[in-house]
Amino acid sequence: MTRARSVLIVGGGSAGNTLAILLSNSGIAVDLVESRPDWGALGSGILLHGNALRVLRDAGVWPQIHAAGFGFDSIGILAPDGTVIAEQPDLHSGGPELPSTLGILRPALQQTLIDAVHAGGTRVRLGCTVQKLDDHGDGVEAVFSDGTAGRYDLVVGCDGIYSATRESIGVVERPEPTGMGVWRTLVPRPAELVRTDLAYGGPCYIAGYSPMSDDVAYALLVVDWHERDEADPADYAERMRAESAVYGGLWPRIREHITDPAAVHYTAFHRLLVEGPWHRGRIALAGDAVHACPPTLAQGVAMSLEDTAVLAELLTSRDVWDDALLTEYRDRRIPRVRTVVDGSMQLAQWLKEGNRQAAPALIASILTALTERP
Ligand SMILES: Cc1cc2nc3c(=O)[nH]c(=O)nc-3n(C[C@H](O)[C@H](O)[C@H](O)COP(=O)(O)OP(=O)(O)OC[C@H]3O[C@@H](n4cnc5c(N)ncnc54)[C@H](O)[C@@H]3O)c2cc1C
Repeated sequence: MTRARSVLIVGGGSAGNTLAILLSNSGIAVDLVESRPDWGALGSGILLHGNALRVLRDAGVWPQIHAAGFGFDSIGILAPDGTVIAEQPDLHSGGPELPSTLGILRPALQQTLIDAVHAGGTRVRLGCTVQKLDDHGDGVEAVFSDGTAGRYDLVVGCDGIYSATRESIGVVERPEPTGMGVWRTLVPRPAELVRTDLAYGGPCYIAGYSPMSDDVAYALLVVDWHERDEADPADYAERMRAESAVYGGLWPRIREHITDPAAVHYTAFHRLLVEGPWHRGRIALAGDAVHACPPTLAQGVAMSLEDTAVLAELLTSRDVWDDALLTEYRDRRIPRVRTVVDGSMQLAQWLKEGNRQAAPALIASILTALTERP
């Protein structure tokens, strides 16, 4: 194989956008196709741990992320009535100079990455998908839904948990529902809400809230997930108010703002870990396309961004892009990703069993391990 120079990225979520930024920063020509015409981010807020922030800093967007989000260094554990049981300092998994955790609105994260993708010169096609990939060994021919075509040295599928790229290269693993899900919405931030506060117990597994910016907070309820509850989104605000009714603390004030059903999201948690190769020939996968888990550790974006950091490091430091490089990429990532997927599933299981004693030690040991660079 000769040194590859051009990369097609399929999917412009946090993984695809960050990979585009990292590669174009190193002079590699990047094309990105995103199926959503508006390239926006769905959902409400997101929590990013230090190890995610470290990749965003390396990609050059930390000042914007810092300005848009709300950083903090501890977590509050509450009783369902809102009484603070403990305030735990959180680990700085991205190093001491970055916050332990940063809450940020998903659209703000997405817009920051979009701006940097454009600034790096990536050629972007929106409302576009890949119709066909032909791997010729020395390059991949791609045919797009807009009728155009291109040839690339490497294709990376960052097209999320239902990845069509994964399907097209014959990876057989599929996301499996965990039986849990979450009600989420955004509300005005009460001034005293300056860190994540989580209440365990009561009718929900977790009832929590986090700051996302100076003005906005994120409220969530982790519950058993039932398909039938998806049935009528017109009821979502009412359902979320009802599910949260017994919780104290800031919940009475938060509940007053849960009025618009369209602003409430009800989402199932899935598990996915592709154990075999993360590539076939010159087509590789990253992010939720190869791994996903309940956000009990809030590490989904971090793992996706770390994939792109490792892949970009290998692609920009090696003259030859070959099977060995892509195998090394997967081999470097899988132990760390497995730790997070297994740990997240264990935490979800403990929630189901009502076991709250073991969680802090497991969370601390995983975040400590993640402090090492990937
Ligand atoms: C309820 C919930 C809460 C979560 N909370 C957190 C949290 O607090 N912290 C955290 O770190 N993680 C969290 N996660 C996980 C996190 O959202 C994901 O890990 C992360 O978004 C994965 O990024 P990605 O870029 O791999 O995939 P995605 O964000 O799914 O991006 C994939 C992109 O590909 C595009 N696409 C899809 N198909 C195609 C196609 N065929 N062609 C072109 N484009 C395509 C999509 O439109 C999308 O833009 C949560 C997940 C859930 C479900």
